[in-house]
Amino acid sequence: MPTPNRYHLLILGGTAEGAALAQAAIDAFGDRLRVTTSLAGRTEQPGPLPGAVRIGGFGGPAGLTSFIAAQAVDLLVDATHPFADQMARHAREAAEAAQIPRLMLIRPAWRRHPLDRWIEVGDVPGAAAVVPRAGRRVFLTVGPSELEAFARLEDRFFLVRMIDPPREPVPLVDHEIVLGRGPFTVAGERQLMRRHAIDVLVAKASGGAATEAKITAARELSIPVVMVRRPLPERGERVDSVEAAVVWLRRRLALLDRHLRPVSSEG
Ligand code: NAP
Repeated sequence: MPTPNRYHLLILGGTAEGAALAQAAIDAFGDRLRVTTSLAGRTEQPGPLPGAVRIGGFGGPAGLTSFIAAQAVDLLVDATHPFADQMARHAREAAEAAQIPRLMLIRPAWRRHPLDRWIEVGDVPGAAAVVPRAGRRVFLTVGPSELEAFARLEDRFFLVRMIDPPREPVPLVDHEIVLGRGPFTVAGERQLMRRHAIDVLVAKASGGAATEAKITAARELSIPVVMVRRPLPERGERVDSVEAAVVWLRRRLALLDRHLRPVSSEG
């Protein structure tokens, strides 16, 4: 008979790191840890995920707190995207309310190369504000819900990259959609930008290897990048690699074991 899993880890995912952590946690602690990954449900066909998967919002911090209680979640890892700041705040509030340990796994930011031509802005509307000064043919790599900010730039061409075909009409006058899911290659990105005569790239400072190729290609083609800075992270314990998250899990599991009261047979 296999030993029943004693603890329950909830990973807030939607990222390559979240998926890699689910696998690493099962590999390292699978006999004593049940792993559930939560996805917002933004992409139609999320990649394969080991362990259990649940999809859709929780209904705010209170909903997540209830989920933690109902599912007897012992540990929470927020491995959402660096720009998923609302979910990160809800995760902090819910973990505090439920009094369970929480770790943020946030991938490292890209490092700026001396030849990069970045124009850093604070948010997506800020990016839309500088595009008219930066170029005429724009490679837009922001989320589908963030395109509206560029709608008034009617005299610019936009090459819009998306994972899935848009569910809503794209609010841009002159645009073309290119579908694609990382990892992308530098050669592929260079070719794409050349083919569409792109002269400015708009990107969020997401970090990560899967989408870094566009940054390298822009550097090689000497194209400016309007780079949206990351929101400030929530307070709390934070690591930037799956390996470090596994170390945190090991330490937390040991602490949970230590606090587990022995069950008295005379009860
Ligand atoms: P967000 O603005 O911080 O979150 C909006 C709402 O979506 C949250 O309040 C929550 O709804 C729900 N949600 C977000 N992540 C969730 C998760 N992992 N599981 C269950 N519900 C979740 O987040 P977002 O920017 O829309 O990102 C949504 C998802 O896409 C995240 O999983 C993120 O990792 C991934 N993603 C985001 C980006 C990006 O640029 N933002 C890029 C790539 C992947 P409730 O309040 O109802 O719980």
